[in-house]
Amino acid sequence: MKKKSIIVANWKMNPPGEITARNLFNSIKDGIKENVSELKNCEVIICPPFVYLPLFQSVIAREKIPILRLGAQNCFWEEKGPFTGEISPKMLKNFGVKYVIVGHSERRNFLKETDEMINKKMNLIFKSKIIPILCIGEKIKERKEGKTFQALKEQLKRGLKGIFNFKKQKPYLLIAYEPVWSIGTKNPCPPEMAKKVLFFLRKIFKEIPILYGGSLNSKIAPNYLKIGFDGLLVGGASLNSKEFKKILKNVNDSFY
Ligand code: PEP
Repeated sequence: MKKKSIIVANWKMNPPGEITARNLFNSIKDGIKENVSELKNCEVIICPPFVYLPLFQSVIAREKIPILRLGAQNCFWEEKGPFTGEISPKMLKNFGVKYVIVGHSERRNFLKETDEMINKKMNLIFKSKIIPILCIGEKIKERKEGKTFQALKEQLKRGLKGIFNFKKQKPYLLIAYEPVWSIGTKNPCPPEMAKKVLFFLRKIFKEIPILYGGSLNSKIAPNYLKIGFDGLLVGGASLNSKEFKKILKNVNDSFY
């Protein structure tokens, strides 16, 4: 039997209204609850915008669904202080957050987040006992110039500098390989191409789960697990509860 598949839903800045957010969450949660025995080899991590975390935390605490967890989409690198608009890992932990996405390409692009900032965030996240989901990925130019591995190596070297012991494989984190050119473009990285990256990353991270993300849908999702990824990071398709539940079902059916 295969080990656990980790499926992350990144809602980004969606949905705009609380009622829609509650409905989306409840629909996914109910779908998981109904199929909890079949889905027991999955871990589902929902990463909504910050403002919805307390709403969902109370549902998860009340209903105790073992495979469903909450994640955040970002955090700051200090615990408290004069950092307007920011939120610390400790604050997130208080709201039942178990995971946090770090270094998503949209933040690298729109907010000019650097590997050095990401490194500082990673430091505090580990201290706060939350599990980071570190996103790395090459831009289209880097891919075309044959610099994919070089770009990924640089992001890893800088983002994990002084924190991750590559020999000891500690502390624990998740790596999400998300080619930038594939995010939100309906242009998923072909599995044979992604497999080469997985092979490259697996040589570095022997015991760390490696996820794939980029324009996933329910039809193609199982393909990435079949080639050896440990999980998926789903953006757009996680905003449609039917489609997201289908992803969970298809992933599950293809293995167990
Ligand atoms: C993402 O937000 O990380 C992502 C992979 O988005 P999408 O699935 O929409 O490409």
